[in-house]
Formats: sequence, structure tokens, C-alpha cells
Amino acid sequence: MEAEYLRHGVPLTGYQLSQADHRRQHEAVQVHEWVQRQLAQAPRWSDERWEKMRQLLGPSTSAWELQRWRLRLYCGHVIEATRLRERPRPDGGICDKERCPECGLDPAVIVAFEPLGPVADPSPEKRSRKPSRSTRKPPADRRSRAELVAENEALRAELDALRDQA
Ligand SMILES: [Zn+2]
Repeated sequence: MEAEYLRHGVPLTGYQLSQADHRRQHEAVQVHEWVQRQLAQAPRWSDERWEKMRQLLGPSTSAWELQRWRLRLYCGHVIEATRLRERPRPDGGICDKERCPECGLDPAVIVAFEPLGPVADPSPEKRSRKPSRSTRKPPADRRSRAELVAENEALRAELDALRDQA
């Protein structure tokens, strides 16, 4: 079930930003600012509503489902982050950016990356359950479970970040 992990822009420390990187960062900042403006106009959420939203997202992903990555962000800092281990690259879709823990740039798009290793080994019971499911290819017109879980993780992170600001 292991994904074939991709790498991009290695060695990370010597990476030079491309035009596409500048454009992606610009777009990410615009989306971020738009969301902030919408939030500023929205009524504040009660504690109860935060809790309901958290429950909707379900339990968080367990360690054995995660892969560690080394990421170079737009600002030039190299950080470590985790993604679902089924995903061959760390920067798809909504997971395209991080908040830089070094300089605080938020959002900072991922410009280069390399795989490190799993966060934890799967438990025996999970290991035997997994293969039958991952050998089935998801229909092309529907998003895979990996994508959905990844979006769920990203939403959870956004929710926590918003909560901190509220
Ligand atoms: Zn930074």
C-alpha cells in the first residue's frame, strides 16, 4: 500500500523560486485575505457551534496513517510536516501551503519537498485490513478517500487556527 513518494526541488536548501511559485504564493495570499474579510463580517461562533463542527470532522488521523516530509516554503525556510501516507506528494490541493513556524509567514506555499519516513508503523490489525481496500482503484469521476481525508485534515487545521483567532 506504500505510495511511491515523489521529491521536487532537491536539495531543498539550494532551491530557487520559479515564476510559478511567485504566482501560487500571490494567489494563496489573496484567498487568505478574502477568507479573513469574510470572517470579519461573520457573526462570532458559540463554543457549542465550534464543538459541533469539530464532531462533524470526526476523529483525527492516527500516527500510522501519516508520512513525514521535509518542505521548503516560499519564505525559504525548511520545515517538517506530516501528510497522509497514501499521498505520493505533500502539496496537493488544499494542502498546498503551511504557516511557517520560523518566520510566521501565513500562508506560505510549498515550493520544494522530499519524503522522510512514516510517523509510526501500522498496527498489525490495520496492516491486514488495508491492502484489500487500497488495491481497488477509486472511480475516476470521484475523489479518492485519500483526498477526502487530506481535505478533512486541512479543514481541521484551519478550524483550529480560526478558533485561535476568534
Ligand atoms: Zn519562513
